[in-house]
Formats: sequence, C-alpha cells, structure tokens
Amino acid sequence: MTQAHPTPTPNPAYVGRFAPTPSGPLHFGSLLAAVGSYLEARSRGGAWRVRMEDIDRPRVQPGAAEGIVRILDALGMAWDGEILYQSQRDEAYREALRELERLGAVYPCACTRKEIADSSLGGPAGPVYSGACRQGLSSRRAPCAARVRTVADVLVFDDSLQGRIAQSVEREVGDFVVRRADGQFSYQLAVVVDDAEQGISDVVRGIDLIDSTPRQIYLQSLLGLPTPSYLHLPVAVNGRGEKLSKQTRAPAVSCQDPVATLCRTMRFLRQEPPPGLEGESLDAFWQWAIAHWQPQRLQGVRSIVLTDAEALA
Ligand code: GLU
Repeated sequence: MTQAHPTPTPNPAYVGRFAPTPSGPLHFGSLLAAVGSYLEARSRGGAWRVRMEDIDRPRVQPGAAEGIVRILDALGMAWDGEILYQSQRDEAYREALRELERLGAVYPCACTRKEIADSSLGGPAGPVYSGACRQGLSSRRAPCAARVRTVADVLVFDDSLQGRIAQSVEREVGDFVVRRADGQFSYQLAVVVDDAEQGISDVVRGIDLIDSTPRQIYLQSLLGLPTPSYLHLPVAVNGRGEKLSKQTRAPAVSCQDPVATLCRTMRFLRQEPPPGLEGESLDAFWQWAIAHWQPQRLQGVRSIVLTDAEALA
C-alpha cells in the first residue's frame, strides 16, 4: 500500500544541478550523481537544473544528450527550467576569459603535453605545471593555451560528506588551462561560469571531481562569483577498483523497469528502500525516496564496489 509522505517545504534558496557530459549513454556512475543531486535538492525543497556539458566537442557523441534526457524522463526525474547546453555558451566563457585577462590573472602558454610531462611532478590531478611560460613566451613560440596564474595559499572548503578539504592549487595542480590550444574553453572555466549563470547554490557530484573544486573556488573568487556548497558522493568502482565510466565499459542504465533500477541505485547509496517498493509506481518511489533520503549514511565514503553491474545492463 502506498503511504503518503510529507512534501518538503519549498526553499527558493536551494538550487541544485546535474551536469552530465554527453560522451556516451548514461551509465550507473552518472546515475548516482543524477539521483544524489536530485534527492538532495528535492528533499530540501529546492530546484534541480540540468546542464549538458557538451563543451568538449571531440568527446561528445551524437545523440547522447538526447539519450540522457530520455532516461531522466523515463526515471521520472523532472528538472526545473530549460536545459543549458555548454556548446551554446562560448560568448559567456569568452567574456569570463576577458575578465581574467583584464585582471592579469592569465598568461599564454605554448608548452606541449610532452614538455609538461617531462618537467613536472605528479599531483592529484596529473602533472603539476612548472610555470615555464609564466614569465613570458620566447619570441619563437606562438601562444597557444591560456593558463591561470595560481597562488600557493592553501584553499580550504568543507564538503558536506567528505569533511574539510585543503589544497594549494599552485603546489598540487599548478597554473591550469582555461582555454586550450585548440581554442576550446576548459571544463574548469565553463563549470564556474555556468554554475553562476544557473544560480546553483549546491553542487552534488562524484568524488572524482573533488580535486577540481579548489580550482573552481579560486576562479569564482577571481571572477567575483558566489561559491556554492559542495557535496561529493562516492563513486562506483568495479571489482578491479576502476571508476565506472565509458572507458571501463560501464553498462548503460536500463529503463526496462525504472523503479527497480532506482531501488538498486538507492541501495548502492546506502539507503534502505522497503521490500515491496519495487512493485510501486514511479511517483510512490520518489515520494518515499525524497522523504527518506539520508546522505549522512555516505559520510566519508569515497568509493563503493558495484557487484551487480551486469544486472543493470
Ligand atoms: N560533466 C562532468 C561529468 O559528467 C560533471 C561536472 C560537474 O558536475 O561539475 O563528469
């Protein structure tokens, strides 16, 4: 029997989002971010927006964005407002880059990947850029990428699940790219500009992005944009400890039985759907899930092994 659950009081101050990269069909790893961000927003009476991060044109797969939207629809996840497409936002990114240039916060960099790899120490986000082009390019070299000049100060933020995170962007990441050599704006710049554009108050996403957060907070401070709250969910890994992704051949989410898929997602997120919920309607599922969402069950959890990947195929 379906029980009625109280609806959370509307809270206009909470705006969450789901920001998938349409590089393939929605897989279980992204579904976690979708469901986690949706439940966090709805259980707090907030709005939930969707943004297609289709900025990295070579990675975008034709039809993938439509496929993701169809799955969200089939799973009964209703978003607020229009979907924002990063592929249509170049002017806003250009404007942000101009502002960074005006502040003297970026410089041209002509280093090749190989030069960077050869001259850098490894950091959590890959090679730490040595700053070779900080003092200017030698005249023989054409400027290519645009890099942000970072500072050594340790940047600290409190993640709602992962606790206090501290990073010196300069020491652990180095000056980072905001416009690539091929003219394309970077994820770091686009995400900051778009989170502000969409009025996002709370970012809920996978922990694989936690090392990017200090860079994003740094860019927000340079551009005078608000810093949202952050909650980084554990990521799903396979038996070999690899993150589920297109590269590790994560299966696409099945919509054959949406409530069963959602109940499995909830169990994975350490929630406890009652027996019998699987036989209920999507509406009944969401009512239960919103009323019982307890993200604190994931406190400090960084990864969870997915043992039933096949069952989701
Ligand atoms: N587009 C990113 C991804 O699909 C997520 C970015 C974000 O949530 O900030 O992994």
